[in-house]
Amino acid sequence: MKLLFASQNQHKIKEVSEIIPEHFELLGLNELNFNEEIPETQDSIEGNALQKARFIHDKFNLSCFADDTGLFIEALNGEPGIYSARWSKLDPKFPNNIEKALVKLKGKENRKAYFKTVIAFINDKEEELFEGIIHGRIIESEKGKDGFGYDPIFIPEGYVQTFSEMPKEEKNRISHRALAMAKFIKYLKEKY
Ligand code: IMP
Repeated sequence: MKLLFASQNQHKIKEVSEIIPEHFELLGLNELNFNEEIPETQDSIEGNALQKARFIHDKFNLSCFADDTGLFIEALNGEPGIYSARWSKLDPKFPNNIEKALVKLKGKENRKAYFKTVIAFINDKEEELFEGIIHGRIIESEKGKDGFGYDPIFIPEGYVQTFSEMPKEEKNRISHRALAMAKFIKYLKEKY
């Protein structure tokens, strides 16, 4: 069965291809020569994942899934949420997303935050959502060099290292994306 990942991110596609059951033929958008932007205009992670999956399903009529992720910081009323990727671009006084988080949280005692990933799967018969959440906290300054995004300032609950400091294998075992992906793969194995 062909399964299309509505993503142009080769790194993500490779990661998924390594864990998806063998009888699925995983395709990325690059393989279909599709490199236009996919609309992402909803006000929730769920909405955006569904919008991307539906858009690509309508175009190619293949079983398809899309993912969307956000960081939700409690003391900032859930910011950056759906704006996680482009948060600092919304306000020119911040050089990057990490700096924006650190400045906005300066002096605040509540450092709680969580990452949420939603995977939306769609084929001719159904639409399904799979969610992965990891709770943790935002520290006062960056620690660690690896990873991407907010990794250097996020320590998951029950751990002492940031996502940046911990071995990649460990992050990939416990992360929001890994949890959502594990649920999705369990579903695929049981149903298809
Ligand atoms: P996307 O939906 O996977 O593209 O994620 C949106 C944004 O959330 C990214 O641009 C990152 O800033 C942030 N993000 C997503 N996943 C992670 C992660 O595992 N670590 C740190 N930041 C992340």
